[in-house]
Amino acid sequence: MTAVQQAPTVWDGLVGQRAAIKALRAAASGHGMSHAWLFTGPPGSGRSNAAMAFAAALQCDRAPAEPGCGQCHACRTVLGGTHADVKRISTSGLSLGVRLVRDLVRSASLSPVGQRWQVIVVEDADRLTEQAVNALLKAIEEPAERTVWMLCAPTVEDVLPTVRSRCRLVTLSTPSPRDVAGFLVARDGVPEALAASAARASQGHIGRARALARDPETRKRRNEVVAMPAKLTSLGACMRCAARIAEVSKEEAEALTGDLDAREKVDLDAAYGVVERGRRPREYAPALAELLKEQKTRAKRRHLDVVDRALMDLVSVYRDAVALASGATGELVNEEIRADIEWLVETSSPELNLQRIGWIFEAREQMLEFNVPPALALESMMVSLRAPDGAGR
Ligand SMILES: [Zn+2]
Repeated sequence: MTAVQQAPTVWDGLVGQRAAIKALRAAASGHGMSHAWLFTGPPGSGRSNAAMAFAAALQCDRAPAEPGCGQCHACRTVLGGTHADVKRISTSGLSLGVRLVRDLVRSASLSPVGQRWQVIVVEDADRLTEQAVNALLKAIEEPAERTVWMLCAPTVEDVLPTVRSRCRLVTLSTPSPRDVAGFLVARDGVPEALAASAARASQGHIGRARALARDPETRKRRNEVVAMPAKLTSLGACMRCAARIAEVSKEEAEALTGDLDAREKVDLDAAYGVVERGRRPREYAPALAELLKEQKTRAKRRHLDVVDRALMDLVSVYRDAVALASGATGELVNEEIRADIEWLVETSSPELNLQRIGWIFEAREQMLEFNVPPALALESMMVSLRAPDGAGR
């Protein structure tokens, strides 16, 4: 702890991204500015946070000397989502269609309200429809003088080459457990031991680390999943574990989307002036049908996201076993269940554990690429993970 606490800047929220911060600060000070940026990095590395920090730095009252002070009115309104010249588009709502992008392109052609830049952050540029990309491309090819586009995507391959080639690239890396733990302690006041364990378990995903550190339910769910490999000693146990993941992840996904669904319905009703038992405008029914369809797609995506995370937690257990068998001396991702990992090392060869990781990825592919229902994919996966006969505990 330093004696004098420095006020946090917008950059402090970007965990373990020193190189990216350096480039963005320089650009906000006038060195290497571009009208189009592409932020890439693995899930949870903070792509959209980096874009928003950069947006704040561009609007900051202390730019160009000290861009992104975090204290001025501009910085605070950008991060608070109320700055007139910064728009943030996210698909945690609905898919990014051409209509939305056309509206954005139209407003991008206007001058900013204030003296500086007009910034448009597109959080999931990889989820743009093809038509939407084409609409966007024109705007990026002939940018208005003071408009800046910031696109976010997991990797450069997720964005069409025509878009990519017009953007300056910012690559975020997976933050180290140490960086993540330090952030949890400094930002959220999480006790050090808990911060260290959440940081290891999150494997560099900041949002996940925060949830693990702050929410006992999240920790409980993860603990249940990573305890599974040591339980898979009978067919019945395999089926029970598969059912459990399918069920718990569905509940978690519903908790995430339920409130949002209800709010969107209220907004839609308000937009069409619909009151209970009242007359409905002719356009209302198709708009409602469209909304319900989008919500269903989103619920399915969320469910798969949650299942996917459980699978990655399982992978981390087998990876720990492989690491331990190969004589690695550092801390395991799942240090808390070292006894389970040791048992895995004793009862299975490293080859088998690597094979198991392969089977988990296969199940993942079946769900994500081939639409196999999660319950089914999880069952056959768990059965293949089963411990060799005679390895019971
Ligand atoms: Zn500022």
